[in-house]
Amino acid sequence: MKTDVIIVGSGIIGMSLALSLSLKKKKVVIIEKNFSNALKINRVYSISEKTKNFFNDIEIWQDIASINRLNGMKLFYRKFNDNNLLSFSSEENNNNVGYIAQSKNIISSLLGKIEKDKNINFLDNCEIINLDEIKKNVKVITRNNKTIEAEYLFSCEGVNSKLKEKLEIENIYDYYDSKALVFNISHEKSNKGIAYQIFLESGPVAFLPISSNLFSMVVSVKNNFFDNEKFSENNICKFIAKITNNKFGKIELITKLISFDLIGYDAERYEKGRVLFVGDSAHSVHPLAGMGLNLGVSDIIEIMSITNKNNNTFDSGKFFSGYARKQKIVNKKARQQLKFIEKIYSIENSLANKIIRTAMFNMQKSNYLKEKIIKHANNNLTFF
Ligand SMILES: Cc1cc2nc3c(=O)[nH]c(=O)nc-3n(C[C@H](O)[C@H](O)[C@H](O)COP(=O)(O)OP(=O)(O)OC[C@H]3O[C@@H](n4cnc5c(N)ncnc54)[C@H](O)[C@@H]3O)c2cc1C
Repeated sequence: MKTDVIIVGSGIIGMSLALSLSLKKKKVVIIEKNFSNALKINRVYSISEKTKNFFNDIEIWQDIASINRLNGMKLFYRKFNDNNLLSFSSEENNNNVGYIAQSKNIISSLLGKIEKDKNINFLDNCEIINLDEIKKNVKVITRNNKTIEAEYLFSCEGVNSKLKEKLEIENIYDYYDSKALVFNISHEKSNKGIAYQIFLESGPVAFLPISSNLFSMVVSVKNNFFDNEKFSENNICKFIAKITNNKFGKIELITKLISFDLIGYDAERYEKGRVLFVGDSAHSVHPLAGMGLNLGVSDIIEIMSITNKNNNTFDSGKFFSGYARKQKIVNKKARQQLKFIEKIYSIENSLANKIIRTAMFNMQKSNYLKEKIIKHANNNLTFF
């Protein structure tokens, strides 16, 4: 079989890239190892304005169910009170603070569109067992013995990219020495569509409002603070109630509590021959600012900008080298910004605490600075 592009992995990034290329009349084959497993992941995402505009461009935004537009975001330092607060509100700061959407709703919207798209051939339960570059093409053989040739292959396999391993591309890691606990809670008193982040000594705790009485939680805990009992399913609601001074009334855990080690990384290169790495296959950051998916979308925007500039023809074997160079720098800078925030907020000495409190207090008074911060986040942490 011949096609223009092979995409490996049908997560949000793989499917979004397929739709973007199809809009430019490219023929795409998606190879997915197990879509039913991918569908079981139910994460809640904060979506930036840039990502929203991209989803609008590929015509899926209007079909995503239950998007929650944030009314504001409140960041607390150590204690949940107004003396330790930096707050952003959509009304005051003349900018949208962001949106919240569930992965299953984004995926079903993408899938609905892909199923109707004649340029996209979706091969589920399929995996590559051999990959070669011949002449101006990349040639793969799948487990079920299909041979597919394409001009380019994009790996959108997520964190465990087999192609990266096969092509001997290493990751450059950030070890946060922390665990992340992910779960949803229901709560009695309305959250009023506001997202919260509390920077505790043990690590940041993020609250994303799914609806007025539901939060999706990401609790990061430094390993030296980790206590199996305190962070167990039985006790996690007590912990949340305590750090929020019972602001949300009665809290109940409504999902399983999933825990994993937090690691950030960047692939040492995003390109090898005609194989390109995109999204989590290329990079991953600390979840404290909810940026992982948004950074993957920025990758796609750059790939499409190169395609547009060249009238949609892939004219040489190095066609996407610009993408590989630029996004590697952009994503490295984003990873460093988040690492810096994580480091600063976890310093524990009285002078540093005082400096951080003063800085937050001054920022809280400056609408100009707050608008700049929101703009930067809405531009997926990119300066240019
Ligand atoms: C706790 C947590 C909270 C997060 N919150 C946010 C947030 O609020 N906002 C945000 O922007 N980001 C967030 N992220 C990051 C976000 O989840 C990821 O960046 C995003 O899901 C990456 O999408 P992807 O399509 O690149 O990879 P994935 O979603 O991992 O998709 C990879 C796909 O490839 C398939 N696959 C894998 N290997 C193969 C193979 N060998 N052959 C064929 N198919 C294969 C898989 O089955 C899967 O379908 C969060 C992450 C975590 C862990």
